[in-house]
Parts: sequence; structure tokens; C-alpha cells
Amino acid sequence: MTFADLGLSDELLRAVTEAGYDEPTPIQRQAIPSVLMNRDLIGIAQTGTGKTASFVLPMIDILAHGRSRARMPRSLILEPTRELAAQVAENFEKYGKHHKLSMALLIGGVSMGDQVKALEKGVDVLIATPGRLMDLFGRGNILLTGCSLLVIDEADRMLDMGFIPDIEQICSKLPATRQTLLFSATMPGPIKKLADKFLSNPKTIEV
Ligand code: AMP
Repeated sequence: MTFADLGLSDELLRAVTEAGYDEPTPIQRQAIPSVLMNRDLIGIAQTGTGKTASFVLPMIDILAHGRSRARMPRSLILEPTRELAAQVAENFEKYGKHHKLSMALLIGGVSMGDQVKALEKGVDVLIATPGRLMDLFGRGNILLTGCSLLVIDEADRMLDMGFIPDIEQICSKLPATRQTLLFSATMPGPIKKLADKFLSNPKTIEV
């Protein structure tokens, strides 16, 4: 199976080739067509399996085909740590290099001023750690009502770090009609409960 078989656009296929990828990994093969069909998804996968591309590639395709809504962010990716958020942002830029989508990286340890400026200009995608996102939200700097595609990445690490209450709060600010993707290396009880509460008829993939 090739990337072209997965239903991705030509621009994305070009970016994937330029990234040096010959063929999709198992999680990419299973996840990408489902995400493109707007299904909710639970991906049980470790880092190193290619899981980032399994949600970033179809997200770019969905955003490219949708209409930008008054400069409101349309997708949100939650990551447990600054480092992971920064890595996903790098991947987003790499895979999205032939698209005109904008992204804001909202993590701690960076001045809020620059993040607020980026938000004021308007972005398509937010890549954030829960703490910084909640801070900016609490200060009235972010509107999440247009975020109809949510990715909760590394959910079991979010649990270990005590982020579940933040994630529940964040989910309550997003539109109820949305697509939600949850990735986790393991599925402990609290993550299953989170998935039951916030995902709708998800497809489960385990690699
Ligand atoms: P991840 O599991 O998302 O952290 O990805 C692990 C590594 O695999 C990253 O360095 C990616 O650039 C790389 N990668 C992702 N998809 C592919 C692929 N289809 N072929 C080769 N490398 C890939």
C-alpha cells in the first residue's frame, strides 16, 4: 500500500515524498482513511510508530478542504509536554509546506505576548500543552468554538501528569459536534472513561 492509496491530496503526497517516506506505517494505513472520513478514533500506539503523521496528514487535508472561519482556530492538538508539542509543530510545518495553513504553538516557557499576537492574527491550528492553553483561555485570548477537530495525544501521559481535569474543561469549550482523535500507548481506566465521554462511536486501532 502506498500513501496515494490512502486518499491524501497531491500536495500532501509531495510533502511525504520530500520527507523521504516510501510507504505508510501500519497506524498510518489504518488511521488516515478513517480520519479523512471524519470518524472519531482511538489509536493505541507508542511513539516511533509514525502516529504523528497519522493525525497531522489527514488534519491538513481536512483543513485545506474546509473554509476558514473568521480567523478562528479550527483544530486543536493537545500534547503533554512542551517538547512533544514542539515536535508535532515541526511535523505540521514539514507536512504542510505546500499549504497555506497557519499554526500557533502554545507552550509554557515562551512569552505569552508572542503567542497572543499570533492568536490575534488568526491561526488554523493550535498545538498546545493543557496548562498554557488554559492560561490563555482564562485571559480571554482564545476562542475555541471553531475547533471542530481535536487531537488528544499521549493520553496516558496526560493522566500521569494530572492533566485530565484540564482536558475535560477544554473539551467542554469545544463545539459538541466535532471530530475527536485520542492516542495513547496504554488504555488505563480513566482514559477509557475519558474516551467514552468525549468520543462518539470511535474506531479503535491498535498497533
Ligand atoms: P512518530 O511515531 O510520529 O513520533 O514518528 C517517528 C518517526 O518516524 C519520525 O521521525 C517520523 O518522521 C518518521 N516517520 C513517520 N512516518 C514515516 C513513514 N511512513 N516512513 C518513514 N518514516 C516515517
